[in-house]
Amino acid sequence: MTTAIYPGSFDPVTNGHLDIIRRAAKIADVLIVAVSQNPDKVSMFTVKERVAMLRETTKDIPNVRVDAFSGLTVDYARKQQASFMVRGLRAVTDFDYELQLSQTNKVLAPEIETVFLATDLQHAYLSSSVVKQAAQFGGDISGFVPEYVKKKVLDKMKK
Ligand code: ADP
Repeated sequence: MTTAIYPGSFDPVTNGHLDIIRRAAKIADVLIVAVSQNPDKVSMFTVKERVAMLRETTKDIPNVRVDAFSGLTVDYARKQQASFMVRGLRAVTDFDYELQLSQTNKVLAPEIETVFLATDLQHAYLSSSVVKQAAQFGGDISGFVPEYVKKKVLDKMKK
């Protein structure tokens, strides 16, 4: 059985993340979407809220599990006995960082591969930051996130 993990901040999950999740779920028997707890990063949603949004928006994909972790991603991947990690690539701007990260992870855990999935063209511009910025300035984020997530983002704006 092949287990893969898709680690990220998912603050919040976007249609771009969901596209990667759906496609990665086809190439792994079990896909664990893993929300990283990074105390140094200022986030809009708590880890618990991010996990809940991911669970809600992936509930129709039977082989997807959602979890949270702290510490090194490769340590978490090992604990889950994952054979590969999935990352999404949007543009060349992602490439330097993602390549460096995957090379570092390869040194730390040579048995775990990083598999890159190229974004669908329609999501190439999309990031959690774009969603938050657009919402902050009153933009319509309907095309960026599922309805459920849109409501949660708008609720946060009211606070
Ligand atoms: P991180 O803080 O770890 O980069 P993110 O939640 O921003 O976490 O992203 C997690 C992964 O999803 C990264 O590999 C990122 O490149 C990828 N990703 C983010 N947005 C998109 C998108 N629109 N299309 C494809 N991949 C994406």
